[in-house]
Amino acid sequence: VQKINLTNHTVFLQILVHTPAHASLGSVLTYRCDTRLPPGTLVRVPLGKRETLGLVWQEANGSELPTEDKIRAVSGVLEGIAPLNAQWLQLIQFCAQYYQRSIGEVALNALPLKLKGITPAQMQRRLRKVSPDKTSPNKPDTSEPTLTPEQSIALAQITQHTGPFLLFGSTGSGKTEVYLQAVHNLLTNKPHAQALIMVPEINLTPQLEYRFLARFAPLFGSQAVVSMHSGLTPVQRLKSWLVAHQGEARIVLGTRMAIFASLPQLQLIVVDEEHDPSYKGSDGARYSARDLALFRAKIEGAKVILGSATPSLESWHSSRPTSEGGRIVRLAMPSRVGQGVLPQVRRIDMRHQPRQAVIAPPLLQAITERIQRGEQCMIFLNRRGYAPVLHCADCGWKSACPHCSAFRVFHKIDRSLRCHHCGFADTVPRACPDCGNIDITPIGRGTEQLEEHLAALLSQVQRPDGSAVRIARIDADSTRHKGSLEQQLAAVHAGEVDILVGTQMIAKGHDFRRITLVAAINPDNALFSSDFRAPERLFSLLLQAAGRAGRDASLGENSEMWIQSYQPDHPLYAALKAYDYPTFAAQQLQERTQAGMPPFSAQALVRAEARSQESAQAFLQAARDAALHEMPHWEGWAPVLEQISLYSAVPMTVQRIANIERAQMLLESPSRPALQQFLAGWQSVLHACRKLDACKGLIRWAIDVDPQSI
Ligand SMILES: [Zn+2]
Ligand SMILES: [Zn+2]
Repeated sequence: VQKINLTNHTVFLQILVHTPAHASLGSVLTYRCDTRLPPGTLVRVPLGKRETLGLVWQEANGSELPTEDKIRAVSGVLEGIAPLNAQWLQLIQFCAQYYQRSIGEVALNALPLKLKGITPAQMQRRLRKVSPDKTSPNKPDTSEPTLTPEQSIALAQITQHTGPFLLFGSTGSGKTEVYLQAVHNLLTNKPHAQALIMVPEINLTPQLEYRFLARFAPLFGSQAVVSMHSGLTPVQRLKSWLVAHQGEARIVLGTRMAIFASLPQLQLIVVDEEHDPSYKGSDGARYSARDLALFRAKIEGAKVILGSATPSLESWHSSRPTSEGGRIVRLAMPSRVGQGVLPQVRRIDMRHQPRQAVIAPPLLQAITERIQRGEQCMIFLNRRGYAPVLHCADCGWKSACPHCSAFRVFHKIDRSLRCHHCGFADTVPRACPDCGNIDITPIGRGTEQLEEHLAALLSQVQRPDGSAVRIARIDADSTRHKGSLEQQLAAVHAGEVDILVGTQMIAKGHDFRRITLVAAINPDNALFSSDFRAPERLFSLLLQAAGRAGRDASLGENSEMWIQSYQPDHPLYAALKAYDYPTFAAQQLQERTQAGMPPFSAQALVRAEARSQESAQAFLQAARDAALHEMPHWEGWAPVLEQISLYSAVPMTVQRIANIERAQMLLESPSRPALQQFLAGWQSVLHACRKLDACKGLIRWAIDVDPQSI
């Protein structure tokens, strides 16, 4: 190590880097530099034997000043990129703190990967490529549609108040048009303002991007709208990021990750379909982009609009009247735009249908009639593959996955047995591997079998021109190849498909004009799920699916949503039939108040993965014991602990995946701040428990704050 001659000019900087998880190093390291660098400056720094991207956090001062001369120097500054601003840094800090992750990990993951390896020369080239678009015409946008009274009122409220807003609009009520005009008002009134529009699914971005480009490219140039999602190449992502960071992009459209876009002039955030579970991450920093949007809007002084036909119960509860403690302004748009009417919901009692009937005879009749009239139907079943399990009736063998506590799913198309958890796949055995019986049979039904079954049932049915019925299937299997989803969707739009079969993928967002019948084949499972959020998800999914029908007024007058159920009188289906989300929400909130569940309490999960179930649970149990028996001796901890319920460690629903055993432990508190305080203190206890002998097989653990599935 070289001896450093400290000069008057030498400054010490705390710099965020991405260190490996649970490394002994923290993620805030001290480096020296000969010039002062403001917080938010992007730098290159040495880390071990390599060089990595770093972000200046602050100057190290006073007692933090290093006494050793081992402090390494900053290698260089990323020239030409303005420092990230204070609000962005605050967002990162909040996210790391709230979700119990290291700040370096959160910060560096929020930046485009491509920044890491880039040289100043390459950066200059990229920056030239994104120089402002000079061709933007100043032609006024004359295409703006007239708003309905409901839309006008909502827009006026958004203009007059500071929000935050919950735009509670039924499917087809024209929420997107409200977003478009809110953005339009903002961008024309404030010449530098920027807006962030978030959607839950990557395959919904092209549609939305098209609408935004069509509206705003003529006004602000084609650079004005950029997208950010995981489908972009690293170079595309870097480009979008730079244009936004430089303030040239006026609108950023994106999925969850876009919440961290650097937008120096951010004034408006829209979170469309705010209830969608995909806004919450399922690994790494499991942040909720919706919740971060509310925080970010507050620190930026920006407005935020959460939009949904079936809001999350958290947002719904927050939008109760101010007099009752509500913090979000609720804007209701109950009507559909134009003449479109919501389809009539029909519940079929499967207890009174022929045994073994997959499609009840009255539903089959309804489908047949629609096809004969040249209309389209959409049928969904939330299970892909041909059958969820193969079974030998002689000896009881089932197609279990050798690596997971789950069955392998039978895919007839390539005669494979595939595990949907670990990916393990092989060909279907000719005979039962245990007893040699050649008559092994599928149990249950997936989309692949439903498609085949429908084709058989409808083989004699003719379309208006006398031709045969055309069936298409859209699920994760049929859309594995890039571009195949777009192709299949285009075929549906073009009227080349009569029946669309699929998983919940098809229920979301797509604007199919000619569908007049939607059917849910077997939605009951969620009614009996151990996850308290399952009914909320089911209601939202069915309502969205219903929203796919009857969008074209000329066809929509007799559109229908069919539900096949063994519990047709269940209150959830009754509320759905009436399109009555408020009643459904009130029922659910009532149950949750009584059970002390969110939004009336805050939760966190600790998940542990280990070589054996014993060591996974031993780790969690040890951390729990320490919390209950050792932490009370800590100064000031008793009142925090009093507000926390720590449940016992239990195996996860799918206990073993890819030979790794999984266990979890739930924490609950009526007070969010208490839970936060507890988790922050408990981190060191968890780290210490990792080293116990009983926890030897432990592979990793993580905290999930506000978990979405339990
Ligand atoms: Zn057998
Ligand atoms: Zn498996």
